[in-house]
Amino acid sequence: MKVGRKQRRNDRCACGSGRKYKECSLIRDAVANMLLNQLDREGRRWMAEFLGASEETFEGELAEEAVVKG
Ligand SMILES: [Zn+2]
Repeated sequence: MKVGRKQRRNDRCACGSGRKYKECSLIRDAVANMLLNQLDREGRRWMAEFLGASEETFEGELAEEAVVKG
């Protein structure tokens, strides 16, 4: 699983299905982001280790996500 790669709703989904992102992985990604945002600090550390990213990288991606949401 790769975290932090941004897709626009009308772009082709990165999963290779040929469908638009909004018709394919958008909801799944939105749910995943919602869950991540609800994790406490310990949960984020665990998730960062699980994803093989440094905690700093992971926090940065979460911050970036927050900016995108506005
Ligand atoms: Zn997809």
